Amino acid sequence: MEVKAYANHAADKPFEPYSFTRREPGPEDVAIDIKYCGICHSDIHTARSEWGPAFYPCVPGHEIVGVVKSVGSDVTKFSVGDTVGVGCMVDSCRTCPSCQQGLEQYCDNGFTSTYNNTFNNKVKDDGYTKGGYSTHIVVDERFVLRVPENLELQAVAPLLCAGITTYSPLKHAGVKKGDRVAILGLGGLGHMGVKLAASFGAEVTVLSRSPGKREDAERLGASNFLLTTDDDEVAKHSEYFDFILDTVSAPHDLAQAMGMIKREGKLLMVGASDKPLDLNVFPLIFKRRSVMGSLIGGIPETQEMLDHCGKHGIVSDIELIKADYINEAYERVLKSDVKYRFVIDCASF
Ligand code: NAP
Ligand code: ZN
Ligand code: ZN
Repeated sequence: MEVKAYANHAADKPFEPYSFTRREPGPEDVAIDIKYCGICHSDIHTARSEWGPAFYPCVPGHEIVGVVKSVGSDVTKFSVGDTVGVGCMVDSCRTCPSCQQGLEQYCDNGFTSTYNNTFNNKVKDDGYTKGGYSTHIVVDERFVLRVPENLELQAVAPLLCAGITTYSPLKHAGVKKGDRVAILGLGGLGHMGVKLAASFGAEVTVLSRSPGKREDAERLGASNFLLTTDDDEVAKHSEYFDFILDTVSAPHDLAQAMGMIKREGKLLMVGASDKPLDLNVFPLIFKRRSVMGSLIGGIPETQEMLDHCGKHGIVSDIELIKADYINEAYERVLKSDVKYRFVIDCASF
């Protein structure tokens, strides 16, 4: 299947039109017409080889929504015309303890990411996977999600990464009604973290270095906004939060966040800075605080998150763009100038 896409050909090269061939759908595969694809900061880290050398041409995109175009003979979960999503994974070993518990993101043999991955021979498109900055994709039905019909499709796309990446740690950490939860960094992940934590009944505070985002915090579901550059405000919130969900994409001061966490509270790390962060152990030791990392979410939990969003009417706040705006969108994400996720209209490829 010939698909139109956008790719960059080296870490320092811009995105440009590109076409390639997807594998022919097998018996367990679903072929999807991609309608919309979100731009995650991980796309930028990868396309620019910030997390290690990428494969080029690089076609990122793991916040994919679309419509089923055809199904293989053994597919049972989906039919032609269904509205579906694909997130960060398109395969895993399926047999290890993590896979058997529906935690494919922690697959002992390494899951197959939607783009820039060579692990599994089945999903190769010319040697490595290529993602959703394209018109079509072929995915095994086990890694395809049902999208609730009541949500606006273009605004659903970011749920497939930003949504599940914030839902999973909040759930796993046990965030519940009345907990004081802070979301550090109000970008794509952060704004979903605010909406989801609020939907669990938490008292949500945004921790941001961008004063221009203050007025959005309440609309997104937060009851408070704290400017991290305001030392007085930070001091007033010493040992205040049960949880801080850290979504920051670059090196930053963990000590400031740690000081705002209560005794036995948790710092939940999802932001994936390309450089190591300094962690002073004394604030951990003296208040029995802990730090937890979390990677996206498994397939069953991703479906649970989508159903939760359907029930509560939760979608992403997006700026819909055409493919030829991807390079400018990347620059704006790097300047924290997006409210709050760019989504590509895939009809524009
Ligand atoms: P994003 O939209 O760019 O948001 C990141 C936010 O962090 C910015 O809006 C900004 O918020 C804040 N920030 C950025 N640079 C900063 C700096 N130098 N110091 C302090 N704050 C800074 O990115 P995203 O798409 O939400 O992704 C966030 C991070 O999560 C990325 O590293 C991404 O790769 C990673 N990620 C991880 C997973 C996972 O499974 N763990 C999944 C997806 C993405 P303010 O303007 O409010 O300060
Ligand atoms: Zn992502
Ligand atoms: Zn596995």
